[in-house]
Parts: sequence; C-alpha cells; structure tokens
Amino acid sequence: MAQASATPSADNMVRTCSIWRALEDIGDAPALLILEAIWMGASRFGELQKQTGLLKALLSDRLKRLVDKQIIVKRPLMDAPKSHHYVLTHKGVELFPVVLMLYRWERQWGFDPSRRQLQIKHETCGQVLEPVTVCGACDEIFTLEDVAWQPGPGVGWMAPHYSRRRNQQTIQSERPSLLKGSVEILGDRWAALIMRAVFTGVRRFDGIQADTGAVPNTLSDRLKSLTDLGVIEARPYQHTPVRHEYFLTRKGYDYYYIIMMLMLWGDAFYGSPEGAPVLLTHKACGQELKPHIICGSCGETVQPQDVSILTKD
Ligand SMILES: [Zn+2]
Ligand SMILES: [Zn+2]
Repeated sequence: MAQASATPSADNMVRTCSIWRALEDIGDAPALLILEAIWMGASRFGELQKQTGLLKALLSDRLKRLVDKQIIVKRPLMDAPKSHHYVLTHKGVELFPVVLMLYRWERQWGFDPSRRQLQIKHETCGQVLEPVTVCGACDEIFTLEDVAWQPGPGVGWMAPHYSRRRNQQTIQSERPSLLKGSVEILGDRWAALIMRAVFTGVRRFDGIQADTGAVPNTLSDRLKSLTDLGVIEARPYQHTPVRHEYFLTRKGYDYYYIIMMLMLWGDAFYGSPEGAPVLLTHKACGQELKPHIICGSCGETVQPQDVSILTKD
C-alpha cells in the first residue's frame, strides 16, 4: 500500500493510447450525460439541466469543459440572440459510433429491464435500430474474434495526470436514458482503463496497476464494482494467500465494441504524429479495420441525421 502514492517515476508510466486521451475529455459521467442529452435534442441550459438532472454548477463546469475541448459549441439563438444553446461540433458528431455501440450494449446487457428505456429508430426503414458492425473494406459483419490488434507506430508510454475525482450520485434512476448502465463504466476513467487492461490480457492485480497507473485502493474498488456489474470475474490462481486473476465475462467482452469506437475517435482527434498506437486488422480480409455501422433491418449505413429517439412505455 505504502508505495502506491510514490511520486511519478518510470514505474508510474502507463501505455499511451488514444483511449486514455479520449477519456480525459469524455470519461466522466456528467460529460456523458450532457452529450447524451444534446444528442437526444436538448440544447439550452434549462433543457440540459432538466434532462441530465445535474446541479447547475456542475452542469456549467462540464459545458465549459466540453466547449474548451471543442466537442460542443455555444451559439446565440437565431430568434433570441441574447440566449444561447449548445450544439455538437464535428468532433462531437463523430462520437456517433461510440453512442451507437453504447446503445447496442445497453440493449443487450442493460442492468435494469424494468426502468424506462429509450430506443433509437432508424428513419430510413422505420424500424427500431439494431446496430451491426461491418468491415469498411469487405462489408462483412465482424465480431471481436475477427479482429487482430497490433501495436502501431504511435505506441509509447506516458506519465498520467489525474485531475478528476469520481462523480458519485450523478446518475438518477428515474431519468429516461439510452445509456445508463454503460455510462457507469465509460464515465469512470479507471473502470474503462481496467477494461482495456483486462481485454489486452493483463489479468493480475499488479499488472493492472502498472498498466493503468491506479493506486491500490482505487483499483480494488473498481475491480469490485466491475465484478458487481458482471463485466469481469475473479478466478483464484493462488490459494495461500488467495490471489485472483480477472477475466472478462461475455458481457464484458462485448463492451469492447465501445472501447474500439472510442479508440478510433481518439485516433482521429488526439492521434500522435507517428500514427495510431494500436492497429486493427480484419482477419477475414486482411485489411486495416475501419468499422462501419449498419442497420440490422435494412442494411444501410447508419448516419446521425437518419435516426430519432423513441420512448418505450
Ligand atoms: Zn474486411
Ligand atoms: Zn434500417
């Protein structure tokens, strides 16, 4: 325990990756709630407050931060130039595949089937959207088993900076939401980084600690919450004293579509000059994997302007 809070040294370096940088900006539950609300049609401060349930000060702070990160922009309203609203920038709109994968995962594995859930309608065909991922090169549907991951030219190590605390109690249970459960993971940077570590085969406490830079208390806490969420499971590899390795469950493994889309977004907007830290290949066709998302009903590529939100009663 004692050595955990040691000053930064080579031992505290974490693997560089675009996910890390992306999580700096959006790996925060209030920020994700705001983006979700904007995406669902809210744009003015009052609407955002109502939809997210965030306290005014917290909402202001995160809006400002999202504007600084160029994910949203504050604009005067056409008909009331003294009032403002918030709209997504190009960078914000490009989070659409991440949102669709969150939605997909939520539909598959949502934590509480009894709560009010929203659905996305594909206007092109009029059906409830079931997003399906296909390879941009060969148009075939791919699963994670079909994807090869190699270190890319931009792989490296960096010293992490931790500036934020976890935001408890920000997600209200009654609020209709597309992304409630999945935000609990993505909205907590540690949880998301632990998922990355376990996905890449880092299974033991020390290894995960080195990979994420998390201090032991934080790491124990997040390993427990991820286990409770059913996305990882602990299996003992040693009995005296008992030590565990962590494995993704099917539900956790499936979360990786979200991480993948987030990584590609990170590569596009936070990439290092050398190139992507991780390269994805579609094993079936041998091409670099550039995923597209199509509608499971009609097969058309899903574009942000072609969807609307449905409330399921
Ligand atoms: Zn392919
Ligand atoms: Zn469709």
